[in-house]
Amino acid sequence: MRKYSIFAIAREAMRGHKGWDKQWSSPEPRSSYDIVIVGAGGHGLGTAYYLAKEHGFKNIAVIEKGWLGGGNTGRNTTIIRSNYLYDESAGLYNHALNLWENLSQELNYNVMYSARGVMMLQHNVHDVQSAKRHIHANRLNGIDNEWLEPDAAKAFCPPLNISSNARYPVMGAALQRRGGVARHDAVAWGYARAAADMGVHIIQNCEVTGIRRGANGDVTGVDTARGFIGAKKIGVVAAGHTSVLMDMAGIRMPLESFPLQALVSEPVKPIFPCVVMSNTVHAYISQSDKGELVIGAGTDQYTSYSQTGGLHIIQHTLDAICEMFPIFSRMKMLRSWGGIVDVTPDRSPILAKTPVKGLYVNCGWGTGGFKATPGSAHVFAHTIANDAPHKINEGFTLERFRTGRLIDEAAAAAVAH
Ligand SMILES: Cc1cc2nc3c(=O)[nH]c(=O)nc-3n(C[C@H](O)[C@H](O)[C@H](O)COP(=O)(O)OP(=O)(O)OC[C@H]3O[C@@H](n4cnc5c(N)ncnc54)[C@H](O)[C@@H]3O)c2cc1C
Repeated sequence: MRKYSIFAIAREAMRGHKGWDKQWSSPEPRSSYDIVIVGAGGHGLGTAYYLAKEHGFKNIAVIEKGWLGGGNTGRNTTIIRSNYLYDESAGLYNHALNLWENLSQELNYNVMYSARGVMMLQHNVHDVQSAKRHIHANRLNGIDNEWLEPDAAKAFCPPLNISSNARYPVMGAALQRRGGVARHDAVAWGYARAAADMGVHIIQNCEVTGIRRGANGDVTGVDTARGFIGAKKIGVVAAGHTSVLMDMAGIRMPLESFPLQALVSEPVKPIFPCVVMSNTVHAYISQSDKGELVIGAGTDQYTSYSQTGGLHIIQHTLDAICEMFPIFSRMKMLRSWGGIVDVTPDRSPILAKTPVKGLYVNCGWGTGGFKATPGSAHVFAHTIANDAPHKINEGFTLERFRTGRLIDEAAAAAVAH
C-alpha cells in the first residue's frame, strides 16, 4: 500500500486526488482462518494488526456485524489518560499511552493524538484527599500527575469558574499533562488499513450468530450471517455485546451493559485548551479541532442494548457544564448519541484466556476503553498468539471475580473515563 507522506499529498493535489488507493479491501470470507477476531472496533482491529505484525500470523479475519469503527470506538469522547490508581491499571494504561505517542508514525496514519492535558476537578474534601492519593500512587508508578490549586487550574483552563459561591466549588484539580485526545475514527481506520495491508481480512456487515465447539470442547469456528467460518482461535472483542457472544460459547460473563451518551455543540472558535473532567458533578468536556465542544455524560441507571439514553442524563450533564463554565450557557447543542458499554463489577477490563480452549476475551472497558486501545490490542495479541497473558495483563483475568483478587478502580474513581 502506498505510504502517506507530504510528497504523496502534493502529487495527488496535482492530479485531482484521483490516485489514492482504497484504504482496505472487502474480501470474500475464506472457509477458515487461524484466528478470527469478532468485532472491528479499535481493540479488535488493533489486535489483528499486532498479531500480523509482531507474531507473524498470516491467516486472520476480523468479523464485524456493522461497519468498522461503528461501535463505541466511533462514539466516544476520546479522553486519553493513564493516571489510574492500582498498579495493574497503571501498567496497562501507561503502556497504551506510550504507544499513543508514536501511533501515527507506527500506522502511517494521522490519529491526531493531542497531549493537551487532562484536568480532573475536585469539589470537596473527600475529592481532594482521593485525588492527592492518586497523584502519589501515580508518581510511585512513574506516571505524571500533579496537583493544581484553583488559581492554577483556572490559568490552565481560563473558562473555568472557580468562584467559591458555586454549588460545587473547585477546590483544586489533578492534572496529567501527557493526557489528551485523539481522533477516534482515525484510530479504527489506521489499524484497519495497516492490518489489511498485511493480509488481514476485514469482513463487515457479517454478524456472528454462534460460536461452535468440537467434541472435546475446543472452539472450531463461528456461525455468521454469511455462513460458517472455521477458526483455530477466536478473540471476542465486542464491547457492549460481549456477554451475548460469550453466551454462545456457554460462558456467563460478569458484565452488565449500559447506554452511555455524548453530545457536541455548534462549532465555535478555539476557546478550550485542554480536557476537563469532573467525576463529582459527572461531566467532561473538550473542544474538537472542528470547534465543537465534545461533552460526555454518565451511564444510564438501567441496563439496555439501545444505542440511545435518557434525556435527563444529558440535561444533568449540561447543568453541570453550565455551572463550571458559565461562558457556555447560551451555546446550542447539535447532536447527541449513545453507545453500549460493558461494565465489570470492579470497573476494570477482562483481557484473558477463557475456560474454553481457543477462546479469548477482551472486554469490560466500560466507559473508558478508548484510551487503552493500542495497549489493550498489543497485549491481547500476545495473549492469543502465546496462549498466555503478557506480563501487563496478567491480573485482568476472568477468575478474579471468583477468587476476589479484584482491581477495584470502581471504588477508586467512581467513574472510569
Ligand atoms: C458515549 C461514550 C463516551 C466514551 N468516552 C470515552 C472516553 O472519553 N475515553 C475512553 O477512554 N473511553 C470512552 N468510552 C469507552 C470506549 O469508547 C470503549 O471502551 C472502546 O471504544 C471500546 O472499544 P472496542 O473496540 O472494544 O469496542 P467497539 O468499538 O464497540 O467495537 C466492538 C464491535 O463489535 C461489534 N459486534 C458486536 N456484536 C457483534 C457480533 N455478534 N458479530 C460481529 N460483530 C459484533 C460491534 O458492532 C462493534 O463494532 C466511551 C464510550 C461511549 C459510548
